[in-house]
Amino acid sequence: MKEMVREVAAYLGLGSSLGDRLLNLQTALQRLTKTGDITIEEVSPVYESPHLGREPEDAERYPPHLNAVVRIRTYLSPVVLLERIQRVEAEGGRERNISWGPRTIDIDILLYANERIKTELLEVPHPEMSKRAFVVIPLWDIAADLILPDGRELGQLVASECIQRQPLRRYAQTLVGWQGA
Ligand code: ATP
Ligand code: CA
Ligand code: CA
Repeated sequence: MKEMVREVAAYLGLGSSLGDRLLNLQTALQRLTKTGDITIEEVSPVYESPHLGREPEDAERYPPHLNAVVRIRTYLSPVVLLERIQRVEAEGGRERNISWGPRTIDIDILLYANERIKTELLEVPHPEMSKRAFVVIPLWDIAADLILPDGRELGQLVASECIQRQPLRRYAQTLVGWQGA
């Protein structure tokens, strides 16, 4: 029997800390939609925050990041979506040398429909998302009523001390030029 293909909503987290950071985010959005099987529905404001590395001193050693979250609609399966975002990262000059190191472009699948996935290649919801202000806050900007697959309300995460104590500032410039903007 032919497999049913359904369109789902998913959330992607984008980040950049090297080169023209805003342009890197914007170019990645354009590349994601190039083949027509990903539609960008909503784009958050951009936020700036210190580098989050493996060591506390990495925050001073490496340049700060710009981050944003987008809601997409897609027919791509989670694994094909991962392959697609990795292709867009490669096109954006992403090199993987230091774990949690500086990067031109990083794209993470935060949520895919209401699914929970745990394989060697892919974990959804993204395992670190609820601990990161640069994910939770922009996600809240575009999906204030969101409930995570484990039943937690996004609003509760936003209010948590862990998120509130992290340095994060709204960046003056926004992402433009994506379809629907
Ligand atoms: P983090 O995942 O903690 O944000 P990172 O983004 O720097 O760190 P990467 O080097 O970009 O990590 O990715 C490492 C691997 O993570 C990828 O090769 C991919 O297979 C895997 N991965 C697992 N779950 C996800 C997800 N939800 N989104 C993107 N990549 C994921
Ligand atoms: Ca990441
Ligand atoms: Ca990543």
